[in-house]
Amino acid sequence: MYQIKFVIILFFFCFSYATEKTDADWWQKKAEIMVKNQLERRGIQNEEVLRVMRETPRHLFVPENLMEEAYEDGPLPIGEGQTISQPYIVALMTELLELNGNERILEIGTGSGYQAAILSPLVKEVYSIEIVKSLAQNADKKLKEMQYHNVMVKWGDGYKGWAEHAPFDAIIVTAAPDQVPQTLIDQMKIGGRLVLPVGTCFQKLKVVSKMRDGEIGEKNIISVRFVPMVHSEKIPRDSSKFQISD
Ligand code: SAH
Repeated sequence: MYQIKFVIILFFFCFSYATEKTDADWWQKKAEIMVKNQLERRGIQNEEVLRVMRETPRHLFVPENLMEEAYEDGPLPIGEGQTISQPYIVALMTELLELNGNERILEIGTGSGYQAAILSPLVKEVYSIEIVKSLAQNADKKLKEMQYHNVMVKWGDGYKGWAEHAPFDAIIVTAAPDQVPQTLIDQMKIGGRLVLPVGTCFQKLKVVSKMRDGEIGEKNIISVRFVPMVHSEKIPRDSSKFQISD
């Protein structure tokens, strides 16, 4: 009798271990295919960027009903009218930052927290600002739960940057302003780079560099479509969701 009990327990132990293993496998396979078909084929070459895109569980950053679509070739809604960017755009912007591992990075537009999670293992510290309070709170909670200890999330207006922690080695903006915000250039180190989409209807992904002589260089990469980077003064004061902290 004792032996039968033991065999039954052993069976359930092996069975639950096997299903857990398949659970982990389903997204890793999808992430692998995503990296091959969407990133490598389109020319992303940085091995570290490809590795982190392969190892980060993107499905945990999208609403539960969209988890199955998390590794497909497009942006997805994350609530509050906002979106998580297409995997290729996340990888391209990360590659364009030309990271070496020692940087302090500023991200404008935390959204789901996915881009911050991609940056986390590639740099020293990530400071991320989100203007929609509920998104900032959710991303902060998620990133903490997932042990991304070098990511700091703040609810606030990205047009102001994050003066207490400036200057930054690099800045990434994941919402589109009409023009390059001067405050962000001011908060960037000499030799630093700012990767951002600029424009209203027609947007260009740009790399802005602050050169040794203080000159600003600007390079257009590709056409893109991002949600607009909004100004806090245009947000209704009576909406408690949108109160801005300084
Ligand atoms: N990086 C995100 C994608 C964000 S979508 C991710 O990986 O999921 C763009 C985000 O920018 C939205 O969440 C939007 O609310 C935010 N945003 C727009 N204007 C902003 C501003 N002025 N300051 C900070 N965040 C802003």
